[in-house]
Amino acid sequence: MKKQTVKEILQNYKKILHHDITIYGWVKAFRSNRFIALNDGSTINNLQIVVDFENFDKKIIDKINTASSLKVIGEVIESQGAGQSVEIIAKKITILGDHFAEELQNTILQPKKHSLEKLREQAHLRFRTNLFGAVFRVRHAVSFAIHQFFNQNHFFYIHTPIITGADAEGAGEMFGVTNFNLNQIPKTENGDIDFSQDFFGRKTNLTVSGQLEGETAAMGLGRIYTFGPTFRAENSNTARHLAEFWMIEPEVAFNNLEDNIDLAEDFLKYIIGYVLEHCKDDLEFLDKRFTEEQKSKPEKERAKESLIEKLQNVVAKRFIRVSYTEAIEILSNSKENKKGKFQYPVEKWGTDLQSEHERYLVEKHFESPVVLFDYPKDIKAFYMKLNEDGKTVAAMDVLFPGIGEIIGGSEREARFDVLKQRMSEMNVDEHELWWYLDTRKFGSVPHAGFGLGLERLVIFITGMSNIRDVIPFPRTPKNAEF
Ligand code: ATP
Ligand code: MN
Repeated sequence: MKKQTVKEILQNYKKILHHDITIYGWVKAFRSNRFIALNDGSTINNLQIVVDFENFDKKIIDKINTASSLKVIGEVIESQGAGQSVEIIAKKITILGDHFAEELQNTILQPKKHSLEKLREQAHLRFRTNLFGAVFRVRHAVSFAIHQFFNQNHFFYIHTPIITGADAEGAGEMFGVTNFNLNQIPKTENGDIDFSQDFFGRKTNLTVSGQLEGETAAMGLGRIYTFGPTFRAENSNTARHLAEFWMIEPEVAFNNLEDNIDLAEDFLKYIIGYVLEHCKDDLEFLDKRFTEEQKSKPEKERAKESLIEKLQNVVAKRFIRVSYTEAIEILSNSKENKKGKFQYPVEKWGTDLQSEHERYLVEKHFESPVVLFDYPKDIKAFYMKLNEDGKTVAAMDVLFPGIGEIIGGSEREARFDVLKQRMSEMNVDEHELWWYLDTRKFGSVPHAGFGLGLERLVIFITGMSNIRDVIPFPRTPKNAEF
């Protein structure tokens, strides 16, 4: 028979009652030398194995401990005890993997509470914990829902390059890619690094965004999206930034800014709705953890809703849409600003918003996800469409409670002359981006797109507070262990 996961057995046990089955998993707990809670990662729920120790070799029983891995053959019966509907009466137990008892003492697999910091230090083992099992199953569901949403809406998945020759994307500090011997870097006569001798014959970097290449694809395929790793040498140690993260970037021909905002809203709601429907057990667990965590916070900072309520509300409510100009008015007239409570006071139109401002709008003022649009051109990228006022661009940021910016996007500048002008104003090398400018020469059309940071959405959905806890192996300044 095909191997069955614990999840399948728990779901379909009625069909296999009184049959012998084979199951595999890790021991989560071994109570009274009689009840093993077995888990194989497929679900947060464990399968209870009943061991009548008189029927087993004592040597085997003695070896069973938290963290050992087992193959069990046994009969499926309806559970006698409370707490589970089904259990397995063990007939044969094989120990697959021993545990190193002494070393186990120092690991996070010891069944007790460990700090998230400690869990991060043992990121290779944390998949085995209830919390990280739940987080990574949800991360999977989010990724799957993203592909499903786009597929259902007739988008094509495009793989844009990870190594890029464009230095001008402007989205952040880049990591260089080279295969030079770093002790002997070839120099030109002027003493500059001679990249013509490097692997690609030019300077190359890890991508900070697939957008520019994505736009070229949208100019032929219409609706596309990218979903890939993204690298930014951000030297900021925040709970929202990684040096390596995953970004999803749809790009749609014929869409304007409003279409773009509609797409972002539908998209986020679809994904959150998908997780609410398909990850109930994991969300219940995460919800309890979230509520527990709130208790340790000062009363003022506690969330008003449970995690699940928060997700349900985001799906139910229409996102509030306000222009940057309105937002500046709200912020500069706010009590917080007048009392000097912002670290960065809001003084004049044209300044960039800090995450404290974004969070004030979302968490205090509107108490709802907010989409800000029409930002001053000087604080946004060169490729955003210049509005008729000549001062603002058709940019949009989606702001979420507890996170701040989760999506950044825009309608793109489709007019060749205006784009060229903006590039020169912003010192973007038009020779390097000749291919990008080309898209505005041959049948240019209005188009728009955005970037969603996968991990920011997963933080929001799981209620975790640090981005390092929603990616298996986080890459941050001074940290690339594993
Ligand atoms: P922020 O101001 O928060 O640094 P950004 O303006 O640099 O964001 P964009 O360039 O618009 O962000 O990127 C699109 C999305 O990618 C962001 O909305 C965010 O969700 C995500 N993102 C950006 N930088 C990072 C990072 N260093 N780590 C994780 N996600 C990120
Ligand atoms: Mn940034």
